[in-house]
Amino acid sequence: MRRPTILIVDDEVTNIEVMSAILEDDHEICFATTGEEALEAARREMPDLIMLDVLMPGMDGYEVCRALKADPALLDIPVIFTTALGDRGAEAKGLELGAIDYVTKPLVPVVVRARVRNHLEMKRMRDELAKLAVTDALTGLGNRRRMEQQLRQEIAALAVHGGLLSVIILDVDFFKRFNDIYGHAEGDRCLAMVAAALNRAMPRSNDLAIRYGGEEFACLLPGVTHGEAMETAHGILLRIASLGIPHSASDAASYVTVSVGVATAPCEPEAHPQHWIRAADRQLYAAKAAGRNTVCGAEYESAALGAQ
Ligand code: GH3
Ligand code: MG
Ligand code: MG
Repeated sequence: MRRPTILIVDDEVTNIEVMSAILEDDHEICFATTGEEALEAARREMPDLIMLDVLMPGMDGYEVCRALKADPALLDIPVIFTTALGDRGAEAKGLELGAIDYVTKPLVPVVVRARVRNHLEMKRMRDELAKLAVTDALTGLGNRRRMEQQLRQEIAALAVHGGLLSVIILDVDFFKRFNDIYGHAEGDRCLAMVAAALNRAMPRSNDLAIRYGGEEFACLLPGVTHGEAMETAHGILLRIASLGIPHSASDAASYVTVSVGVATAPCEPEAHPQHWIRAADRQLYAAKAAGRNTVCGAEYESAALGAQ
């Protein structure tokens, strides 16, 4: 298992040495001797925990803590303040600013180790929960919540220069009949295989495949042309068909197939994620109506138009 990384911040090198000696057996250590360096190191190393000295010349520990908590990328890193023994005011102020705990100097090794261990364990559990909250248990893909988070982020980023965003929605054909014939457990296995094939069909690192719900999946393709999105959609159709999962009750083929809808539109600052989803869903409906096992897509001048 990866050793957790701890960033030690203190203007006195001796203090850093003492703290390192206490923690280095079980952790990767990095350090900084000023507030500015601390913020740089935090961004670069993304430590699991920060031990932060309060009293430093220039930018002090409070300011560093405030800056950490104001940065969305850094605010989840737990901060433990190191304060001089008996300075209750410093402890209270640190905790108010969002530090999770404090240790007092001179340091007591067992106390420091115990507090660090507890906070790292809590962080690990929090990270795990946050991941589970956006993951689909059956397929391991992201879930609808993940999709909506990512959509909002992509729209905000792409809207700066009106970049294109494509959403693909696909749905397994005649899946109710598949369950009826082969059983629910086999249905689950089929969905897991479809998910893996879908994931493999995403050619770009920024593409995201998720399970939208039931036997419906979605993909988010930021910054690609409609032509490229259609090509990806056809690739998905082909890969899932070539799994060759038998489906004797399908009217579309003798194996499991999907229908695919694609919608592409430029991002505007006030555009709503649901516009892309609704537009792609309409294209999916068209693909179902056209006999299934096919791709339908459209490019729109604005996502709102596609959703109407
Ligand atoms: P169409 O071609 O129009 O999409 O028909 P369909 O039968 O695929 O669509 P319908 O929406 O009628 O049925 C979807 C089925 O998917 C019904 C439901 O039991 C099944 N399903 C949804 N989620 C799961 C799941 O997690 N596991 C299994 N095994 N089946 C699921
Ligand atoms: Mg279906
Ligand atoms: Mg469905």
